[in-house]
Amino acid sequence: MTTSHMNPNYINGEWVAAERVLTDVNPSDLDDVVGRYAEASAAQVGEAVAAARAAFPAWSRRGIQERADILDRIGTEILARKEELGRLLSREEGKTLPEGIGEAARAGYIFRFFAGEVLRARGELLDSVRPGIGVEISREALGVVGLVTPWNFPLAIPAWKIAPALAYGNCVVFKPSELAPACAWAIAEILARAGLPAGVFNLVMGGGATGEALTHSPGLDAISFTGSQATGARVAAIAAERGVRLQLEMGGKNPLVVLDDADLAVAVNCAVQGAYYSTGQRCTASSRLIVTEGIHDRFVAALVERLGQLKVDDALAPGTDIGPVVDARQLEKDLDYIRIAQEEGARLAFGGTRLERAKRGHYLAPTLFAETTAAMRINREEVFGPVASVIRAKDYDEALALANDTPFGLCAGIVTTALKLAADFKRNAEVGMVMVNLPTAGVDYHVPFGGRKGSSHGPREQGAFAREFYTTVKTAYVLA
Ligand code: NAD
Repeated sequence: MTTSHMNPNYINGEWVAAERVLTDVNPSDLDDVVGRYAEASAAQVGEAVAAARAAFPAWSRRGIQERADILDRIGTEILARKEELGRLLSREEGKTLPEGIGEAARAGYIFRFFAGEVLRARGELLDSVRPGIGVEISREALGVVGLVTPWNFPLAIPAWKIAPALAYGNCVVFKPSELAPACAWAIAEILARAGLPAGVFNLVMGGGATGEALTHSPGLDAISFTGSQATGARVAAIAAERGVRLQLEMGGKNPLVVLDDADLAVAVNCAVQGAYYSTGQRCTASSRLIVTEGIHDRFVAALVERLGQLKVDDALAPGTDIGPVVDARQLEKDLDYIRIAQEEGARLAFGGTRLERAKRGHYLAPTLFAETTAAMRINREEVFGPVASVIRAKDYDEALALANDTPFGLCAGIVTTALKLAADFKRNAEVGMVMVNLPTAGVDYHVPFGGRKGSSHGPREQGAFAREFYTTVKTAYVLA
């Protein structure tokens, strides 16, 4: 592809250019332009929503075999091309190649899972309390769903919104992140050839302004958003004004509790994978390591040793453990928090600095703070980088209280050999997902995903639970 080529938006079954262009740059190599992507205007967003509205009645009544076949074709193609798509993802977003390929495969499996879900749509039949009357409870598609996604899982998150939306008979207007248009475009290109009628799926690329145009659009029935809490709050205000159904998945400040009886190697592995892999740019990243007294010093020493062995480099280079930060703005944010943590009295135990590599890129050393307190900003606000901090706890009870002392509630992990404490933690962690002797990041695609408190709003995503958001319930009474 030449750099002057512009990858267009996809609206009403047509590829449509735009006046404004997004330039997508490889964060591992700032001299490598991944591509140029059309930034949809507000008018084009309106056209996409109108096309989706027009396509909805026929699509929602279409036979389920056809819907299942289309989703299956999409998933099968993504799986067949997982290496190429994974490479594109790593080049665009900066996670390592094995992580990129793994995510591409996950996106394929998600489409195939929802191909199966199409055939499992079901209702309920009950007797009425009034004799001679039957009651039917069924589910129907919502209509037009606006999907707004972040950059950090640029294949998987679009897949886990688009696939259920289409599976349950909705039409889609998809607004991906401006930092990851290449992955979004690649998905759209596959969907455009999968046999969907015009208008059922639309891609409108662009930044916050395109997202605003979509959320303000009067033709939407629902919005599913994944991104930061700040943007989520803005989307929520607009959705409330318009009375639109809303699902928000936002940030995390996920704790990993390490107890005295933990297996040290398991604890260090969970911390390294959960806090630093994917450059820490995961909503489920373990950014707070809550460690009890008896193991604290051994844990910190072992973790520092492991951090020294991690290879930070080009996401596509063999052997890289940690790729670059996604862009200059996120890198500045990470460095700001590193400075703030030190000003607040945290002890820098490892990293904290930018790294130079053969290619110009946004490289940051994995960074660990020790002797931090729950009140520090580093422990209250989401950084979204390869930065974690250790909080000392005197015992399990204090560790649990610290784990829950956060406005977020996405995921929490515990490393312990005590079944009783693991069970207690599963029950009392105020989150949507709990991990026992596993990293907080790394989840399956066929089970519910989501959180509580400031992390999430609305029904869960993924697995069969996705239908709670993407369908509406109808109760019919029939005189026998
Ligand atoms: P972001 O909030 O900056 O952007 C998310 C999306 O919203 C992008 O597509 C962006 O263009 C769009 N947007 C920006 N302003 C908008 C507006 N005013 N109206 C409508 N749309 C607008 O988030 P990001 O930096 O792309 O992603 C990182 C964040 O996503 C982190 O906070 C992370 O925790 C969160 N995240 C959450 C989950 C989850 O499932 N809980 C998963 C991945 C990422």
